[in-house]
Amino acid sequence: MRAVQVTGYHRNLQLNDVPEPKITGPLDVVVRIGGAGVCRTDLHILEGQWAEKSGVLLPYTIGHENAGWVHAIGDAVTNVAVGDKVILHPLITCGLCRACRSGDDVHCEASAFPGIDTDGGYADYLRTTARSVVRIDDGLEPADVAALADAGLTAYHAAAKAARALRPGAVCVLIGAGGLGHIGIQVLKAISAATLVVVDRNQAAVDLAVEIGADHGIVADGTQVEQVRALTGRHGAEAVIDFVGEGGATADGIEMLRRAGNYYVVGYGENLDVPTIDVISTEINFIGNLVGSYNDLQDLMELAARGKVALHTTKYPLEEFQQALDDLDRGLVRGRAILIP
Ligand SMILES: [Zn+2]
Ligand SMILES: [Zn+2]
Repeated sequence: MRAVQVTGYHRNLQLNDVPEPKITGPLDVVVRIGGAGVCRTDLHILEGQWAEKSGVLLPYTIGHENAGWVHAIGDAVTNVAVGDKVILHPLITCGLCRACRSGDDVHCEASAFPGIDTDGGYADYLRTTARSVVRIDDGLEPADVAALADAGLTAYHAAAKAARALRPGAVCVLIGAGGLGHIGIQVLKAISAATLVVVDRNQAAVDLAVEIGADHGIVADGTQVEQVRALTGRHGAEAVIDFVGEGGATADGIEMLRRAGNYYVVGYGENLDVPTIDVISTEINFIGNLVGSYNDLQDLMELAARGKVALHTTKYPLEEFQQALDDLDRGLVRGRAILIP
């Protein structure tokens, strides 16, 4: 089969002919890839940023945002059948550790990560296990939802966590209306009655955010903290979801937070700089967010099937992987780039 592989760092990916993955364990599932999302992480992999952390042996097949059709299953697989349309949770998890037993898949103690530390989905087929396949609605196409497996799942996880603590009419500020923020707005609109305030430097992104459901759009022009305070009777917001995490976003975000508010960190880059006396005297909380669980992905697919969450995609044939990566690197991709084998 065809597979786009990392053969070395600081060099281009290569299209190779490799053996098809076979079922080797009773819970294995081989998926025929219908769409593989092209992600900024893929660029970072080629820069060697993940080499040490993942310990992956080269060559291997890249691609961690995958969806397709079940092609073959092991003897013990009961949750999907050959031909089912599925999206893949990004991790292959053990199911036996404490984290797995709590449904907290991303903290599995014995996980593998296709596309990062084992063969991924820039290929005709990929092997995962029964624990990682989420069946999707017949009305959805794998290529349209593949990118929801990572970026979408991350946004869902943070937004759903925030929604559980937000009462109707409470104010939730979303900093950053790019790819993740875009999904976060749609998710919160669907599952929460909070008032949604979007802050972004880009006027077009703010306009789009309001179009898809934000109650207020604020262009970050230096007055954003003051605008949020004015909107909230000077109390600040019950929740801030920070999809940016750099360039001064966290200092602004903390100032937008109400007493006892929750600050959800999603984007990252800079340090949180907050006097501990402010943390104790206002009882504000800082909450980290890492991808999302299997159940989160199932919930997100439910919203996608109902048309509540949509992602704009630009599709490329698998062989045009280099074009897709170059376009992403140059900021030329509208929405998410998807490779179609
Ligand atoms: Zn990704
Ligand atoms: Zn586990």
